[in-house]
Amino acid sequence: MEIIDYYNEKKWCDKCGTYVRFLMSVDYSFCVNCGSRVRLFNEKDLKAFHRGLQQEKEAGKGKRRKTKAS
Ligand SMILES: [Zn+2]
Repeated sequence: MEIIDYYNEKKWCDKCGTYVRFLMSVDYSFCVNCGSRVRLFNEKDLKAFHRGLQQEKEAGKGKRRKTKAS
């Protein structure tokens, strides 16, 4: 049986070095383990995320028309 967390979203904690559950405050989110600020991604994933966006943009530019195989 799988337990579904109410907050299954996780953010990156530099101190813990992993994705953690977090507490939301007005401006920031905090790690539930150590209380330091957390971010949405770590450096590596952030780059990958941006690269992904870029690729999507690039792909969207050139490939507008669909190829119809009839
Ligand atoms: Zn932490």
